[in-house]
Amino acid sequence: IVRFTDVTKRYGNLTVLDNLNLSVEAGEKVAIIGPSGSGKSTLLRALMTLEQIDDGLIVVDDEPLTHMPGRSGRLVPANARHQRRVRGKIGMVFQSFNLFPHMSALQNVMEAPVQVLGMNKREAGERARELLDLVGLGDKHQHYPSQLSGGQQQRVAIARALAMRPKVMLFDEVTSALDPELCGEVLGVIRKLGAEHNLTMLMVTHQMGFAREFADRVCFFHKGNIHEQGTPAELFGNPREERTQAFLSAVN
Ligand code: ATP
Ligand code: MG
Repeated sequence: IVRFTDVTKRYGNLTVLDNLNLSVEAGEKVAIIGPSGSGKSTLLRALMTLEQIDDGLIVVDDEPLTHMPGRSGRLVPANARHQRRVRGKIGMVFQSFNLFPHMSALQNVMEAPVQVLGMNKREAGERARELLDLVGLGDKHQHYPSQLSGGQQQRVAIARALAMRPKVMLFDEVTSALDPELCGEVLGVIRKLGAEHNLTMLMVTHQMGFAREFADRVCFFHKGNIHEQGTPAELFGNPREERTQAFLSAVN
């Protein structure tokens, strides 16, 4: 459902994604691990069109994201409108929750469906209530972000992303700003989404325990590329590459 083909992203002289290839099947759960600065967030941000890539092709749900068919039928770089449309199939949750502070949990979840999809408020409100129930916040609809714990805010952020009915969900270290107990409730929600809704998920995480239990596949990033990948059992149990071994023994 997601495919990166020879994707390169540079900041000045720094190559952050280096001829990267990655293909993710519908429903697959992929954990992305690796050292700081290896390009993990850039990969997700490129998929969310928050960064423009310098080279290569990204395809989402059989449609090119970075390109569109030109007059001649050949692919040309995509314009903003095309990117927005294809990007609509993707939802993202960040480390910092980024909720609108002046809106209640319910309003936060309703906002994009109403503003972007033009959904009527009643329908959007009903759907937002269902989603808040789904993430375990059935009793907090009217609370403002400042009245919620970090874990609760993060669950509102997940509900907000789901409100756009994405086919693919991206999570970038969504628990690193949280205390361990609050982490657990957010990971619980992610686990439930994975199990009950056949969502494709890409998750950058520093929590090896969660990656091991949750992911179908683990990708170890190093210097803008996937240095090694495999099932959790393969990658954690029997890493082949020296870099992977060094990283895993440093974080465990
Ligand atoms: P971390 O685990 O610390 O979150 P990461 O693997 O997510 O790291 P990225 O955020 O993808 O790393 O960054 C990769 C590299 O790109 C880093 O060296 C970073 O300094 C650089 N970088 C990221 N954004 C920019 C930017 N807007 N301008 C210049 N350099 C950037
Ligand atoms: Mg990052």
